[in-house]
Amino acid sequence: MEEVPDWPDDPPSKARAFHDLSHKEKPEATHPWKAVPSEKWNDWRWQLSHRIFTFDRLKFTIHLTKGEEEAIRLCWNKFPMAITPYFSSLLDPFDSRCPLRLQCIPRKKELVVGKNDMIDPCGEDRETVVPNLVHRYPDRVLLLATTRCAVYCRYCTRRRLVGRREVHITQENLDVICSYLRKNKKIRDVLISGGDPLLLEDSRLESILRALRAIRHIEILRIGTRVPVTLPMRVTEGLVSMLRRHHPLFVNIHFTHPKEITPEVREACGLLADAGIPLGSQTVLLRGINDQLAIIKKLVHDLLKIRVRPYYLYQCDPAVGIGHFKSSISRGIEIIRSLQGFTTGFAVPTYVIDAPAGGGKIPVGPNYVLSYQNGVMTLRNYAGDVYHYCEAERNFEA
Ligand code: SF4
Repeated sequence: MEEVPDWPDDPPSKARAFHDLSHKEKPEATHPWKAVPSEKWNDWRWQLSHRIFTFDRLKFTIHLTKGEEEAIRLCWNKFPMAITPYFSSLLDPFDSRCPLRLQCIPRKKELVVGKNDMIDPCGEDRETVVPNLVHRYPDRVLLLATTRCAVYCRYCTRRRLVGRREVHITQENLDVICSYLRKNKKIRDVLISGGDPLLLEDSRLESILRALRAIRHIEILRIGTRVPVTLPMRVTEGLVSMLRRHHPLFVNIHFTHPKEITPEVREACGLLADAGIPLGSQTVLLRGINDQLAIIKKLVHDLLKIRVRPYYLYQCDPAVGIGHFKSSISRGIEIIRSLQGFTTGFAVPTYVIDAPAGGGKIPVGPNYVLSYQNGVMTLRNYAGDVYHYCEAERNFEA
């Protein structure tokens, strides 16, 4: 992996700390980022190089509680904080329970290690066949292209890898990966993830896509990303026109809360969708952030409006220090039960548990089958009514 150059550590020139504001000043009128010219604001490289890593910089954007301040300092060497100026502008500056704030600002609970916590909850290290390539399922692999993300989600399942050292895959890594893939002809699907692969420069990302496309038995490519949400200006015309050269290409976007769907995100998803890229979403069910029917329902409806199909709802993985984000499985099932049949079928994501230690994704959800014997299945529909479905007559007679 090659080291990513350091970020400059200059705070925005005209920034003002919120604790300096009088009570009468409204945050939107005095927001420090307002001083940034729009050509810089809309430049993803400017956003990336001005990510907020420290308490000293974050306090210019929002009013931090003592607990947050302490947690930022304590968690620094466990799992760093990084927030793009764009994403920081979505945080409620005065409400520490803001669902977007809870996702990206450390809390001291992260230092608590639960007895079931695991460093590598999905067992990826064990299934890493060559550096940066995880091969678990028979016909598909996971390629980890970088350890960098625009914003570090506090509930990240891959926190053992991402954030601490920001590195990208090298050409040598890629050559070894391609050589493995060429030899394994059953592999037809490559998911490129990280970290966030959309943080690679277009030319670097294209070199990966091109190398994979050159392998005849690779049928589809997928990219897993949160960049359209945390750094939507990264989705440029140039990026999209490069991506469209590598169809069939699917993009799965990590969304967490309806508040993330801003005009900028709508535009980014529109550009990707207009390029014929099927868009799906993945959402982690998070306690106190999105584990309510009304929130998930609004999220899935709003996603469809921007042409993103809800794909997975994940039960939070048992990664070290994120136990406080776990909602109950029964709550997740209840949310799915309240969506299924009550709203558009493809608005309903599949609720899955990534089985600890590498068992893979296992769908969990409401049980609609009451019995199945002698060719007759007894089912309960979404409204609770019971129906019997008979298979072919011959099965019946048997
Ligand atoms: S974007 Fe994904 S990989 Fe990056 S910190 Fe968030 S959950 Fe982890």
